[in-house]
Amino acid sequence: MCGIVGYTGPREAYPVILKGLKRLEYRGYDSSGVAILNDHLSVYKKKGRVSELEESVVGINMHGHTGIGHTRWATHGEPSDRNAHPHYSASGNIAMIHNGIIENYTLIKKELQNKGYEFKSDTDTEVLLNFIEEIKKENNNTLEEALRIALKRVVGAYCILLIEKDNPGTILAARKGSPLVIGIGKGEHFLASDASPIIEYTKEVVYVNDYEIAIVKPDELILKNLGNEKQTPFIQKLDMELAAIEKGGYEHFMLKEIHEQPQTIFDCLRGRLIGSSATITMSGVDNNMDTFMNASRIVMVACGTSWHAGLLAEYMFEELCRIPVEVEYASEFRYRNPVINKGDVIIAISQSGETADTLVALENAKEKGAFIFGVVNAVGSSIARLSHAGAYSHAGPEIGVASTKAFTGQLAVLAMMALKIGYKKGTIDETRYKTLVRELEAIPEKVKEILADTSNIQRIAEKYKDAKDFLYLGRGYNFPVALEGALKLKEISYIHAEGYPAAEMKHGPIALVDENLPVVFVATKDRYYDKIVSNVQEIKARRGKVIAVATEGDTIIPGMADDVMYVPDADEVLAPLLSVIPMQLLSYYVGVSKGIDVDKPRNLAKSVTVE
Ligand code: GLU
Repeated sequence: MCGIVGYTGPREAYPVILKGLKRLEYRGYDSSGVAILNDHLSVYKKKGRVSELEESVVGINMHGHTGIGHTRWATHGEPSDRNAHPHYSASGNIAMIHNGIIENYTLIKKELQNKGYEFKSDTDTEVLLNFIEEIKKENNNTLEEALRIALKRVVGAYCILLIEKDNPGTILAARKGSPLVIGIGKGEHFLASDASPIIEYTKEVVYVNDYEIAIVKPDELILKNLGNEKQTPFIQKLDMELAAIEKGGYEHFMLKEIHEQPQTIFDCLRGRLIGSSATITMSGVDNNMDTFMNASRIVMVACGTSWHAGLLAEYMFEELCRIPVEVEYASEFRYRNPVINKGDVIIAISQSGETADTLVALENAKEKGAFIFGVVNAVGSSIARLSHAGAYSHAGPEIGVASTKAFTGQLAVLAMMALKIGYKKGTIDETRYKTLVRELEAIPEKVKEILADTSNIQRIAEKYKDAKDFLYLGRGYNFPVALEGALKLKEISYIHAEGYPAAEMKHGPIALVDENLPVVFVATKDRYYDKIVSNVQEIKARRGKVIAVATEGDTIIPGMADDVMYVPDADEVLAPLLSVIPMQLLSYYVGVSKGIDVDKPRNLAKSVTVE
């Protein structure tokens, strides 16, 4: 959450920063702002979207070759002009932006207030900034020295960028817990929360590590640890094209990302799964096969949509590998002192690879001797680096706040893992293994079929868009799909929706059913099919409206449901990769028909780098 951009070099800083902020806006859009350094240090900031900042500075001379910019997802203090970043220090000599939360800010704030400091905002950021300035003043330190001393006292998470009036051309940066990438150009440097603002200028990047400080000048990048020892920057090549972060003719990133899924799932399988020889190659699994085979249990740790992928993986791993699996919300797991034994395998699932709760949960588990395997989309991200081994989901940059293609990428990775381990363990026989490998290979084509004509789903969205609540029901592998469908609808249409196991519905939610309640059944052909047919009857008997996701060729469900969205036939283990697609499209079209900005729904942000 919060997007951070910085530039120092021969170009005009403002246009580079503005473009970068637009690319990072998915990380937060409560307010945005820039600080430009020339003879003066000037800050411009505005509540709302980056476009509002852009309008507010029309006619102002934004000249300067060094600058920093921020797009905010508020944690401390309401979204407003005064809480927007950058913040000025009390003297006005330093400007700072921040992504993260300073947990002990109240204590520091009190200390500073006792010394006479007054605060212009309600943010934890302004407190940290003045704390740094106070240390600088007290001991006659340089800003770099003061920063180092201050950070040793700070509890929490941060990525901060600072510029100082008397230090032209220099940006100071530091991180702990929140991401920071530095792009290396010719006589220029770009700083950002992820690579998207950097990619069009350079492909050479350095991912800054926790507890590192970067001193960035146009032609010099120095990395130091908090002990003031120089670190060698590890320069990596970005494997990403500009087209991947642009809308490419689609109205929204979310729609583009939904339609990319045949390709992204294919990319995820490519080079790993070969149907003709029924082989799956995944070096992260191959190199640790004994660890997986001897694991007494696997714990899936994730948040949000990734947690739903973890739930599906529980079904897959228990069935195919006969290994007990627990699925944990990272935020709960990290705080409840979980029992972790040496030899436990933790699979961390995250799109951004920066999810704060997941990250800390993993650090704790790693300390206790667990083996950490990351299923991550963002290459080079913190979780990817912290894991002992892992497999990328290769979905490419996901910009729409509601996750779509990253979810199906995660499912494809987890399915390959379960198949590979189960086959090696002998917990699935060769025939079933081969069938599932071939079926998995066929998934991208089947997704393409669903996406070929979305007009029926658009019609259904239009019909139900004014409903106040939705219920989503499914059994077995389709239960996590129902949860994901409900989450997607909530996120981008603001309609209250609940996902439930279809049979559990009788223990409470059925009381809500009347002729106004649309009930979405994920009712594809599987071993529970007859049972779900009965559940549909139960809803119909109470005059509920039934929208069903059914398998092509089904004749029973369509005879009972008010509306049907069809998906091609697939084995139940892999069917979620198909049945989730109509869920994504239904939410998308409901959101759009209600006039909601589906790429940036209210209150949400992508890449949740705060707890
Ligand atoms: N804590 C800072 C604020 O509220 C930054 C928030 C964030 O990174 O999400 O302004």
